[in-house]
Amino acid sequence: MDQKIDYVFKIVLIGDSAVGKSQILSRFARNEFSLDSKATIGVEFQTRTLVIQHKSVKAQIWDTAGQERYRAVTSAYYRGAVGAMLVYDITKRQSFDHIPRWLEELRGHADKNIVIILIGNKCDLESQRAVPTEDAKEFAQKEGLFFLETSALEGSNVESAFSTVLTEIFNIVN
Ligand code: GDP
Ligand code: MG
Repeated sequence: MDQKIDYVFKIVLIGDSAVGKSQILSRFARNEFSLDSKATIGVEFQTRTLVIQHKSVKAQIWDTAGQERYRAVTSAYYRGAVGAMLVYDITKRQSFDHIPRWLEELRGHADKNIVIILIGNKCDLESQRAVPTEDAKEFAQKEGLFFLETSALEGSNVESAFSTVLTEIFNIVN
């Protein structure tokens, strides 16, 4: 059945390879998770339509094509994006240490009013944690980003992460 769409919001996922970007997207768009996900091939996006304050909002979420390995995410990827999810893996310190670079790249390419959330994924692996929650919280606060820890595997906070970004964008345009 046809559904009236009031808004389409483009959201981009960025962060190092293997932090769980594709699985976060798969969890949000299809409520699926795969432990042996192949590296993403070809730039692609998935969509999911939600209702925010009685309006239907189509989230068009873009996933990198494994380009993160060569730091070759192109400006076309960022074009028109109104939201961004900056993802690291809480068990991989390096993926968190690279966040400032991703943020710089994002700020260099995207609209200055873009809504950004920092996401510490794989919080189901608490025993292997390498990034204290406080460090990330502090960084997010300093940079004016939203922040949440998620688990694409368990599904925890994935919905909240997207709704935080989408609601903030919705409030900006309304
Ligand atoms: P991407 O390169 O950032 O897109 O990362 P993927 O989504 O392909 O995930 C990389 C690996 O981490 C895969 O083996 C996933 O199954 C695994 N993974 C992703 N999210 C989680 C999570 O929340 N918890 C755990 N334990 N593993 C995860
Ligand atoms: Mg991927």
